[in-house]
Amino acid sequence: MLGAAIGDALGKQNEGFSRKEIPDRVTDYGKTPKSCPGGKLRAGQYTDDTEQMIVLAQSLIECGGFDVQDFAGRIARWGADAMADPIRRSLVGPSSSVAIARLNSGVSWKDSGSDIPSCGSAMRVAPIGLFYKKPDDVESNAALSSLPTHNSKAAIAGAVAVAIGVRCALEDMDCFEIIKETVARASKYDQGLAKRIELSFVKRDAEPDEVFAELGTSYLVYETVPSAFYCFSKHFEEPEDAIVEAVNAGGDTDSIACITGALCGARHGVEAFPKRWINGLENKELVEHLAAMIFEKRNYSN
Ligand SMILES: [Mg+2]
Repeated sequence: MLGAAIGDALGKQNEGFSRKEIPDRVTDYGKTPKSCPGGKLRAGQYTDDTEQMIVLAQSLIECGGFDVQDFAGRIARWGADAMADPIRRSLVGPSSSVAIARLNSGVSWKDSGSDIPSCGSAMRVAPIGLFYKKPDDVESNAALSSLPTHNSKAAIAGAVAVAIGVRCALEDMDCFEIIKETVARASKYDQGLAKRIELSFVKRDAEPDEVFAELGTSYLVYETVPSAFYCFSKHFEEPEDAIVEAVNAGGDTDSIACITGALCGARHGVEAFPKRWINGLENKELVEHLAAMIFEKRNYSN
C-alpha cells in the first residue's frame, strides 16, 4: 500500500504530460507543474488513486471482508467530498465522477458504474490482493469491487489483473508465473487486456520509448495496466527503477506508478524503497496503519 501511495505521489508530478513533454526526469518528490491535475497538491501528497485505495482498505477492515454495498456508500461519500473541494475536484476521473453522481442520487451500485474502460478500479484494488489469500477470492472480490464505478469488461479485467498480480507477488512467484496467472484470470473478463499484459512481459527487455508508444499510457485501462506490468517486469529485481520508469512513462503517470508501486511493494516489501520516498510521503502513518490492520484481519481461510 505504501508502494502504491509513493508511486501515485511521484507520478502526479508528470500526470498529463506526453513522454516527450516531461521537463525533467522525476526521481523524487517536488513541485507539481500547475498544468497537471494535481498542480495544487503539496510535494509528497498522493492523489485520488490512493484516496480510493484507502476507502477500499477501510471498508475491508471495518466489514471484515469485501462488502460491495458498504464500499459503494463510502466511495459515494468520498466522491461528494472530493468534488466539493476545489483542489481535489480535478483529480477525479471520468468514470468515477459519473458513478459518484449516480450513487449520490440514489442509484443502486448495480447500475451506477460507468462503461468507460478507464483504470479507476485497477488503481485502487491492491488491498483486495493483500486481504484474501485464495486466488478465487481475490478474483471474485476484485471484479465485484469494480462494479459500483467501472462496469466495463475491460475495467473489471484490469481490477482482477492488479489484485491477482499483487497476490502472486506476495507469494514470491517469479515474474513469468505472476504474469501467467494474471493473464489467465484477466482473460476471463477481457481477452484484449490479457493479451496486452502478456505483450508487456514479452517486451520487458525492449526500450521504454518503443514499448510505451506501443502500449499507450492514457487513463484507459488497456494502456495503464499493461504499462505498469511492463515497468514491474522490466525491473523485477529493482523496485526503485520500476517506479521511476512508471513515473516518467508519460500520460496517466500517477496511476501507472501507483499500480507499479503496489506490485513492487508486494514483491519486495517496504524495505526495498528509498527512505526519502517513505519519509516524504504525506499521511504515511495512515497508510501504514491500514496496511497493518489489513494484515491483522486478512482472510487466509481455505
Ligand atoms: Mg490520480
